[in-house]
Amino acid sequence: MSQVSLIQENNWLIQEAAFKVNHYKHFEGVFTTGNGYLSVRGSFEEGLKDENQAEEYMRLPMNVSLEKSNLMVSKWGTYVPGVAGVHPLLKEVMVNLPWMLEFKMWLDEEQLSMEDCTISEYSRSLNMQDGTLIRSFLWKTKEGQEVKVSFERLVSMDCDHLCVQRVKLDFQKGSGKLKVAAGINGNVRTNGYNHFTSFKSSEENGFIQTEVLTDKGQQVVQGAMILSKGENLWNVKQENNHIFFETVMDCDSHSSHDFTKLCAIATSRDLHGSDPYVTVKETLKEHAGITYELLKNKHTAVWENLWLQSDIELKGNDQLQISVRFSLYHLLRSNVRKDPRVAIDAKGHAGEAYFGRYFWDTEIYLLPFFIYTNPEAAKNLVLYRYNTLQGAKQNAAAYGYKGARYAWESGLTGEEQCPNWQYADHEVHITADVAYGLWHYYKATGDFKFLMDHGFEILVETARYWVSRVYKNDSGVYELSGVMGPDEYSPFSKNNAFTNYLVKFNLGIVSEAARLIKEYDQNNYLSLQKKLKITDEEYQQFETLLGGLVFPKDENRNLILQSEDFESYEEIDFNAVWKDRSKPFGHYISQEKMYRSKCLKQADILTLLMLFPNGFTEEEMKSAYYYYEPITTHDSSLSPSTHSIIASWIRNQEEAERFFLQTAGLDLDLNKLGAAEGIHIANAGGIWQAIIHGFCGVRNAVQSEKLELKPLMPSFVQEISFPYLWKGNRIRFTLNTEKILLENEGDNQVVITLKNEDITLAPKTRIEKELH
Ligand code: BGC
Repeated sequence: MSQVSLIQENNWLIQEAAFKVNHYKHFEGVFTTGNGYLSVRGSFEEGLKDENQAEEYMRLPMNVSLEKSNLMVSKWGTYVPGVAGVHPLLKEVMVNLPWMLEFKMWLDEEQLSMEDCTISEYSRSLNMQDGTLIRSFLWKTKEGQEVKVSFERLVSMDCDHLCVQRVKLDFQKGSGKLKVAAGINGNVRTNGYNHFTSFKSSEENGFIQTEVLTDKGQQVVQGAMILSKGENLWNVKQENNHIFFETVMDCDSHSSHDFTKLCAIATSRDLHGSDPYVTVKETLKEHAGITYELLKNKHTAVWENLWLQSDIELKGNDQLQISVRFSLYHLLRSNVRKDPRVAIDAKGHAGEAYFGRYFWDTEIYLLPFFIYTNPEAAKNLVLYRYNTLQGAKQNAAAYGYKGARYAWESGLTGEEQCPNWQYADHEVHITADVAYGLWHYYKATGDFKFLMDHGFEILVETARYWVSRVYKNDSGVYELSGVMGPDEYSPFSKNNAFTNYLVKFNLGIVSEAARLIKEYDQNNYLSLQKKLKITDEEYQQFETLLGGLVFPKDENRNLILQSEDFESYEEIDFNAVWKDRSKPFGHYISQEKMYRSKCLKQADILTLLMLFPNGFTEEEMKSAYYYYEPITTHDSSLSPSTHSIIASWIRNQEEAERFFLQTAGLDLDLNKLGAAEGIHIANAGGIWQAIIHGFCGVRNAVQSEKLELKPLMPSFVQEISFPYLWKGNRIRFTLNTEKILLENEGDNQVVITLKNEDITLAPKTRIEKELH
């Protein structure tokens, strides 16, 4: 695999050593910086020549893996999750906002351009430790001047609304007239569509500002100001949805110039509800008097804490260390830490491929990382589902069902946004996944208040949906037909095992939650009962369905069947169909054929096993793995990490490592250029799980009261060390092939079960154990 250059002596840098225009869009995704509230793609400050960001095209509601993306070489992206527009075919989409990092330069009429100028000593790197993106190079002009240029930017972790850029120029040879134009450009599109109903720009006391209204009626205000040493006169120019500062200055030989550009952004849907014009103005005012170093220090302090909570240290494999940190960086960067009205979209707010929508990826792939490293952040993600419960109820009602049916592709209200009927109508497992996610959060954190105030209501409404969605056949058995499980290449299956198992789980935890709440606070339970109008008959219905819903299994082969009808699907000759394995299998086969054949897009049963490590025997896991793995195409990026985890659990180290290496390199692979449309963020969460739950064998809290682990050290690292929060107590695990060090950094005693032996660890103590 050809990866971006990962600097070995510093395991925090992702470096692009040379500029290549055909890699550019990919690096725009890779180098996305952000603080959750705001994410900005890594486009050059001066842009590329001939790039047209206002190009209009009609994006069709096709499956992303089938769609031919348009040929743009560059895609600017400025995203505030929750700022949305309405597309005539695609429904609600996250809107790409005006580009505010613009900083163009001309030296004696020669315009700085990475494509046209003579550039040497080029280097661009993302420092993941403090979220700064730095580019430096030597610009030799046709007139013979030599200028060392460096650009640095950060989206402040300290202040949600702030983004800071620094540009430095060192005239090493020659002098000249330098012109700079730096501003905010509203000539952008989202999926080729203009979602702005108005664009305004103005100048006010040293700063420029723009306002756009989206076609969903949201207001976004952006502002910018330049802080530079010296007495430059900055003029403001406005033309065609574009406002910028401009200056011309004489630069002597060996002179240095240092510009700081502050940008601010605020919207009408910000949590604190203040006027976005006021927020922008105050953000700029507040930070204008502070040095770049100080702004950066405050921002870095927040990053430091985030890394302390979540870093995985890998000794003995720098390349892998950087790849893993790359995933963690994007998880931390894309998480809207303070806002429970949004979640993390499928592209980590780094591109438009999935329109900014929230999928099951949240509960199954992303949530575990946050649950065990930063439960407050995890709580926001589960609260997002509470805040969209009304939308989920409308979805159920729209199809004639009771209760709540969560959207396959969810947006601001929870109403279904998926434009493709196959998924919207049939991929119903999302509803049970939401129940699983909140239970996982509750079990790992013990946040009983959440369960009472929010979780229980979701559990009841989702259980009601299942009762009305199932079908009781003539023999009195309950069935779920017309279902798409996680494998999206089998959309209309009957009794998909993953879905049915999760539905049973969903039904089971309603009664469990009711029992716990009754025991803990009888009055609270009574008011919940009244509010939700839940009756004993309903509990009885849940129990009956739990017991009566089919779970398809071939006992002779000890094999869980993906669905009851899966075995009747046609066999596929993969070698004949799949001509070039570097491309997705889905490109080589019609949807009609794929839908009735034995080919999996992604892990299906294996995902079920991953969620319930103690629910299945090792033998069941083995038979599932060896049956399904050869017919799985991994066309979805969610698949390899799951395979790595199950392979670890069945002690197939070679396969566990093979799949892990696939996941770890996914967004850094220069052959695939997969980050062009955003980051595969579920895969990033999968990488965390493949290390912690897979190789280190830590069992999740869903089924186990005890912190339990069964490690299988991978051969490609010498040591793994990571923090893990268990019921409010932070434990640090450090493993190598021989030993494991367990450190209880918390205030409570913790019992850890290591390979079936219980070890009691008092607060602030550590213990070392042999692994064999
Ligand atoms: C996968 C889904 C996933 C979605 C968003 C699809 O390709 O099949 O499982 O939820 O991408 O990541």
